[in-house]
Amino acid sequence: MTSVLEPTLGLLHDEAGRVDEELLPCRVNNPELWFAESPADVESAKALCQDCPVQGLCLDGALARREPWGVWGGELFLQGVVIPRKRPRGRPRKNEAA
Ligand code: SF4
Repeated sequence: MTSVLEPTLGLLHDEAGRVDEELLPCRVNNPELWFAESPADVESAKALCQDCPVQGLCLDGALARREPWGVWGGELFLQGVVIPRKRPRGRPRKNEAA
């Protein structure tokens, strides 16, 4: 199953190259925020992505590539899938109460 419209990293780079780098939050802020350990920092990166002009393309590309880790297109990826939020270190896996 292949998609002719599959976003590629090259397409993302092309698109990002057309916009001013200063408009890309992950270029003008500390890029480590997008791969942060702290849940608060991850949420900050996700919020910063909301103002990015290539957010949709970035998210589509990350989904297509099944990014193993990091914030892409305003979403946190872990092992190729979007997860709602990062758990603090050392927490056992349990069902969270709402
Ligand atoms: S949407 Fe993608 S390119 Fe834009 S700031 Fe977020 S990670 Fe960077």
